[in-house]
Amino acid sequence: LLHHKGDGLRRRGAVGSSRGGTPMHQFIAGKRRAGTATGTFPVIDPSTGEVLAEATLASPADVDEAVGAARAAFGEWSTATPGERATVLHRLAATLEARADELAATESRNAGKPIRLAGEFDVPGSIDNVGFFAGAARHLEGKATAEYVTGYTSSIRREPIGVVGSIAPWNYPLQMAVWKALPALAAGNAVVIKPSELTPLTTLALAEAAVEAGLPPGALNVLTGRGPDAGAHLVAHPGVDMVSFTGSTPVGTGIAATAAATAKRVHLELGGKAPFVVFDDADLEAAVHGAVAAALINSGQDCTAATRAYVQRPLYRQFVEGVAERMRSVRLGPTPDPDTDQGPLISSAHRDKVAGMVERARHDGATVVVGGEAPGGALAAGSYYRPTLITGAPQQSEIVQEEVFGPVLVALPFDGDDEAIALANDSRFGLAASVWTRDVYRSLRATREIRAGAVWVNDHIPIISEMPHGGFKQSGYGKDMSQYALDDYTQIKHVMFDATGLARKPWQATVVRG
Ligand code: NAD
Repeated sequence: LLHHKGDGLRRRGAVGSSRGGTPMHQFIAGKRRAGTATGTFPVIDPSTGEVLAEATLASPADVDEAVGAARAAFGEWSTATPGERATVLHRLAATLEARADELAATESRNAGKPIRLAGEFDVPGSIDNVGFFAGAARHLEGKATAEYVTGYTSSIRREPIGVVGSIAPWNYPLQMAVWKALPALAAGNAVVIKPSELTPLTTLALAEAAVEAGLPPGALNVLTGRGPDAGAHLVAHPGVDMVSFTGSTPVGTGIAATAAATAKRVHLELGGKAPFVVFDDADLEAAVHGAVAAALINSGQDCTAATRAYVQRPLYRQFVEGVAERMRSVRLGPTPDPDTDQGPLISSAHRDKVAGMVERARHDGATVVVGGEAPGGALAAGSYYRPTLITGAPQQSEIVQEEVFGPVLVALPFDGDDEAIALANDSRFGLAASVWTRDVYRSLRATREIRAGAVWVNDHIPIISEMPHGGFKQSGYGKDMSQYALDDYTQIKHVMFDATGLARKPWQATVVRG
């Protein structure tokens, strides 16, 4: 991918410091704290079921403390100059780079990622994003003065919002933490982040590295805990000025409703169901290869993963055969093995959910061309699920309309271009899409008419720090990455100067005469 630095596999390093029974604490005001935790919960390696760490469950009092620490740090951090903030964030990028092997090993084990993916995608991508926002911190431009009314001068200040409460999912733990925290910090906000309870380890490592890099203690706090208690308390907290959330659509809409009670700004990156449209003039081999890679990336637990392949009828049969053949050759295996293509799903509960959706599709008459089952043997202890291709599912069925978030691709044929675009848009989600064609006019029309936050032409998945990521429709609103994200974490202030020098302004006469 484009942010892949190509610096080879990273195989060294180990999981966090809490193995052996010591609980993995939250990170508040620059320190690991046990707080008044309501208990602990196990952090699991989903490829084996082994417990990697016990994480504390943040209590409401811990949330209050973290928000208080953020509020206290906001003064110092928000008044640092952009150059000072950039220096700290560049040092953070360097600190993470020095720990890249260790971070990749931890991410790989905790999130069930093949080490190749963690080492070549998750970690370098995260570091690149930190570097991008370090630079962007110096481009927090307001608007120069302008005279719109004679005798008055206006200016626009871009100011940080205050304390940002961020909530992140488990699929790309470090990347999601970076996408949430870095634009907020670059703009001068203080952050309290709650990673998924399933994957807190690299978010804690990020916050520790940030303090070592010179971030004021309290400017970035991490609460380990569950969504409905620690997460919900953070969202409702009157000391939080903005909520930024990445996760599922039902949780996100609930968060927006809660945040409305205190008029918080909300930034939502929600679910997806990306269409993958193959026109009859496409390079078939490229489309087949692209579909398999984009459907199976991170075991399909990717909000932009290819999930609905619409293929023009002349290419349909060959496409299905090609995808099935490639899927059969995918190597499921242990996550530390550099030859593993696909690791487990995040948990056995999630694997069962994916399997249930495939079973219902099969029961309703769809054909499972390949996969549709968990592997046995040496992989049975982990939450693995085979790459799966489904055909013959009705457009309105669950497997076509709902997010599976697993290694499952549905293929359906179409005849004309109008139909392809209508099918691609027939979803409540609108996060990402791709079109495969060698005809420039077809690609121009499709990219204009498909309603999604990103549309790729002849590829599917690449993301770059300089460009925005975010949804249309029920995939949410607000942008991650890019200058647009920086803007999302600022508020605009109009400052108006009277330059007339008059004691009595002309407009006052309309209110008070004399
Ligand atoms: P989730 O919605 O179940 O959980 C996300 C986070 O919200 C977790 O930290 C969880 O603890 C927390 N949470 C749960 N209930 C909460 C509540 N009531 N109040 C506050 N916080 C609460 O999602 P997940 O299963 O962790 O992640 C998968 C989902 O994330 C998928 O739907 C995927 O599409 C989406 N996702 C979207 C993007 C994007 O950029 N649009 C990126 C990655 C993942």
